[in-house]
Amino acid sequence: MRELTQCVVTPPIEHAGFASLSVPTFRASTIVFDNAQQYAERGKRGPDGYTYGLHGTPTTRALEARITALEGGVRTALMPSGQAAIAVVLLTVLRPGDSVLIPDTAYPPVRGLAENFLNDFGIHYRVYDPCIGAGIAGLIDEHTRLVWVESPGSTTMEIQDLPAIVAAAKAKGALVGCDNTWATPLYFKPLAHGADFSIEAITKYVGGHSDLLMGSVSVATIEMHRRLKATMRMLGMGVSPDDCFLALRGLETMGVRLAHAGKTALALAEELSTHPAVACMLHPGLPSCPGHALWKRDFTGSSGVFSIVLEDGRDLAIEQALNGLRVFRIGASWGGTHSLIAPMSIAKDRTLSTWSASSVILRVSIGLEDPEDLREDLLGLLERLISADIAA
Ligand SMILES: *Cc1c(COP(=O)(O)O)cnc(C)c1O
Repeated sequence: MRELTQCVVTPPIEHAGFASLSVPTFRASTIVFDNAQQYAERGKRGPDGYTYGLHGTPTTRALEARITALEGGVRTALMPSGQAAIAVVLLTVLRPGDSVLIPDTAYPPVRGLAENFLNDFGIHYRVYDPCIGAGIAGLIDEHTRLVWVESPGSTTMEIQDLPAIVAAAKAKGALVGCDNTWATPLYFKPLAHGADFSIEAITKYVGGHSDLLMGSVSVATIEMHRRLKATMRMLGMGVSPDDCFLALRGLETMGVRLAHAGKTALALAEELSTHPAVACMLHPGLPSCPGHALWKRDFTGSSGVFSIVLEDGRDLAIEQALNGLRVFRIGASWGGTHSLIAPMSIAKDRTLSTWSASSVILRVSIGLEDPEDLREDLLGLLERLISADIAA
């Protein structure tokens, strides 16, 4: 071999005797084949085979397999973001003339996708009360192909009655997709309750360090996985093996991170619920949260995200009060090691509930800092809201 060839060809390397606890990062666009016949027949390799880097490498498969095992599913497909995972499910099952039921409390871009994109293709949506339970049957007609569930709901944290919704949907031939990002498969398993799709924003607790974007869709049948992969192939969608490596690493500590954040979050939500600046604490583990009884029945734990509804009128001082935070950072997304607070005005995202345009909800994501530092910081924030009110 001449030098330029030596630049690109690796001489034989010994792999025997090497073992690592970490999953290797296999990167690839091209997959090479041992002979021309294998290449010609690559289309027969099926969804688990390797044909092109976009459709998966052993690193991708390792993450898919771990999530599939946790979700109690048959296969998992990985997408570039949580929103992409949601979009691929909708694009896979909905056709012109079909409609999808979306809870009023869904992650807002879900409604955005239906309103600003799917509508143009003759796919319709209807918004429903997340607390509707078995009453969803009255909204499912012959056009309803999919019922979307997100439990708990974004920001307002309503727990939905997934078993009742699944029963009603199945009776009328509709599919059910459940966004399980808050609970993660450690605390709730949508497929075990009959959902057809369990969706996770890997971006949040699986990634766990605010440095990667990914989504997953786990399903209970090979056929549904094949359909999802077909949509992804049409859209040219895949994930980076480097991001899968980070997600695999994040997943290994997810259980202890969730336990710590969950315990701290529940204790803070409980303690601060009686603070004079707080109108209501929205945490599924507290009786004040809509669907608390369903959470007790169906979930095995609570993660680190909850919301504080401020007493009316506190919103005027909120910016100044937030600027005084010392440990919490201000930001969207959640599920990382750093605690976050995001002031949310949700009125514009809702059509069925009656949140006033001026009411501010603080969405809190508890991270891994010392709980006492977080407690002092939150108490300070609430105190500043009270004193600003007295000064006004
Ligand atoms: C963040 C989030 C998503 C979207 O995830 P991205 O990876 O940011 O696109 C979807 N659903 C829920 C409930 C989320 O919190």
